[in-house]
Formats: sequence, structure tokens, C-alpha cells
Amino acid sequence: MTATPSPAVAAESIDRFSLPDAGGHFGRYGGVFVPETLMTALQELGAVYEKARLDPVFQAELKNHLKEFAGRPTELYFAERLTRHCGGAKIYLKREDLLHTGAHKINNALGQALLALRMGKKRIIAETGAGQHGVATAAVCAKFGLECVVYMGAVDMERQALNVFRMRLMGAEVRAVTSGQKTLKDAVNEAMRDWVTNVRSTHYILGSALGSHPYPMMVRDFHRVIGQETKTQLLAREGRLPDEMIACVGGGSNAIGFFFDFLEDKSVRLVGVEAGGRGIKRGEHAARFEGGKLGVLQGAKTYILQDPDGQIELTHSVSAGLDYAAIGPEHAYYRDRQRIDFAYACDDEVMETFQLVSRLEGIIPALESTHALVHGLKRAKAMRSDEILVINLSGRGDKDVNQVAKILGVSL
Ligand SMILES: *Cc1c(COP(=O)(O)O)cnc(C)c1O
Repeated sequence: MTATPSPAVAAESIDRFSLPDAGGHFGRYGGVFVPETLMTALQELGAVYEKARLDPVFQAELKNHLKEFAGRPTELYFAERLTRHCGGAKIYLKREDLLHTGAHKINNALGQALLALRMGKKRIIAETGAGQHGVATAAVCAKFGLECVVYMGAVDMERQALNVFRMRLMGAEVRAVTSGQKTLKDAVNEAMRDWVTNVRSTHYILGSALGSHPYPMMVRDFHRVIGQETKTQLLAREGRLPDEMIACVGGGSNAIGFFFDFLEDKSVRLVGVEAGGRGIKRGEHAARFEGGKLGVLQGAKTYILQDPDGQIELTHSVSAGLDYAAIGPEHAYYRDRQRIDFAYACDDEVMETFQLVSRLEGIIPALESTHALVHGLKRAKAMRSDEILVINLSGRGDKDVNQVAKILGVSL
């Protein structure tokens, strides 16, 4: 699908380091919308994070865990056969799929677990949809000896039984959420309820660049390493910056981490890819910039898929990790500023590209990441052979093979 034009806002220089403001706003997006009982916890978290961010000891500790436990740095891989297949731009893949537990989520889980230790909080809660964030959180909790409770919709638990088992193997308690649609949004509500009740002993490890301040900023910062490594690796290999970078956008954490250190490099085109599901019809997709409106959901003001009464719309995507009605507030801001463009990919294209990339490169991508690949292959074909395209491969597809086999009618 083609990238949709953003509303015209003066594209003056963006001082990325001044964002968000003290109230957690990215322009008119973001902020803090929580029950009063959580205000103190968010303020405490903000203060502890601000100190840690500037503390070389914290940063060195985090870097070491990212290396030894998570497997950083990840490769920037030249996808030779995909490049030849498209016949245009040189395609590089940032291999976040090679990280421990299978996706970028471990970057943030490690960072927040270290903060919890600093705050003396020994109990961790998290929400999870497909289970990837739950698995990453369970892993870091096991590593640091922290109690771990993961809220997961009952429907998702059934669909992702393997990830439930993985979390339990690593010592986490997985609590089934039976309210609402019994999926991710309901799991977030339940996690927030737990946090309100147990705020003194408990840290909530939120899994994307979403929610109230300081989460969107903090989660972004923990994923910035993706873009920082990409820049160093590409400069070493090609001696220049890429022409275009593409990432999939659920809540927006892998994308903002990938893009952030390139925001000031105006020659680099940045594109986020949302889930087009079965097409852009009400309830059939999760592309917030295709029909979403400004609203507040689960702590942040941003673009949300909602009906005319403000009720949250049903969403659909073949990939659970992109299936959410709200987008991270920082993405909405950079879209207005015309710094990040957005496109979407639909389920059927994703199924096709999932198989193509597996066959051509020997890499089975996560269905989420495959959205970025769908758009990336279209772009590569349209670009010149002396241009460079980097796609963030946010995770591996092992978790998706059962679902794909089912859709293809293959019995395992
Ligand atoms: C969770 C997940 C996503 C979507 O989350 P973001 O916060 O938008 O990055 C994308 N890719 C993979 C592999 C995931 O597990």
C-alpha cells in the first residue's frame, strides 16, 4: 500500500532530545491520564529513570546485560537474494530476530527490570498479547530473581499456548483475563488494576512505547540501541547513511527505537507500517492512521480506532503484535511533522511475503516484522540499485509457524 500523506505542518527542525516536554507531551499527543493513585508511582518512575539515564554505571550495567543475556549487538545483514529478487535498492535487515527470546522486546524488559531493582521493587507485572513481551519479561525476572505476574487475555492464552508454557517454565504466573474481548486491551486494564492495588511493591513493565509518561519516552530510549547500532554498522560497511528505513508499528517501540537516531538526518526517509488486516474497513484492520481519531486510551492521548461515540473499535490483524487500537504518541507527532510516513500491509500480502523471505533468505520472520518486509520489497523495487534500504526485522517467526500452517491448510 502507498504511504498516506500527513496533514501539512511546517517541517522545521525537530529537537528530538527535548521531547517529550516535562508533562510527557509530544506536541498535542502523550501526557498522563491515570487514576490519582498511580500519579506518585509514575512520578517516582520518572525521577528514577531520569537519574539512571544520566548514570554511566546504570548504562554500563544495561549494556553488559544486553550483550551477555540478550545477544547484542545484532547483525546488520545484507539480504543478497531479496535484493536480487527485487532488482532495485540494496536491502539490509537489522536482525533483532536473533535476540534472546526472539524479538526486540528484551531490550526494554532488561532496562525496566534494572529500574525496578533500583526502586527496590521485587514484584513485576506485565501485560501481553501474543506473549512475546510476557516471555521477555518472564526471562528477565527469572534472571534477576523477581516475582513475575503476566496478565493475558483468555482468548490469547488459547491462541498462544506455547508462549504461556514458556512463561510458566521460567517461573512466571500467567493470569487469564476474562473481561471484555479477552485480548490485549483487557490484559492492560487488568495490569493497571493490579498496579493501583500493589503499587508500593510492584513495578509495571509496559511492553511498548505507549501509556502515560514516562513510558513512551523510556521504552523508546531502551530501544534506541537498535538505531544506534544500525548507524554504526552501515557507516562501517557502506560509508554512508541509508536512503530509507522501514519498520512495523504496533504500539511503536521497535520502530521508534530504530528511527530515533536518524530523525535529524533529513536525507533518510522513515516509514512505519501498520496492520491493514483484511482491508481498511471498520473492525477489519489495526491501521490507526487509516480512520483513527484523536482520543485517550490506557493512559495516552493519541490516534485511536474508535466509533463515532468514542467506543474503541474492534481491530484485526493476522499478527497479534500489531493488533491494537492505539499507536504510540510520538509516532502521531512525527507524522504531523511529516518526519515519519506511514503505510500499511494486509494479511494476504503478509502471508505471501512470509513464505517468500523464508525461501529466499533462510530467515523466517515474525508476522509483525513481515509487514515491514511487504512494504520494503515494494519500495526496493521502486528504488535505484545505488540506493540503500534498511528494514528492521523486529522478531523471528518460530512463534507463528502453527498459525501460518493452519491458514495454509497444512497439518503439522
Ligand atoms: C510486539 C512486537 C511488535 C510490535 O510492537 P512494537 O511496540 O510496535 O514494536 C513487532 N514485532 C515483533 C516481533 C513483536 O514481538
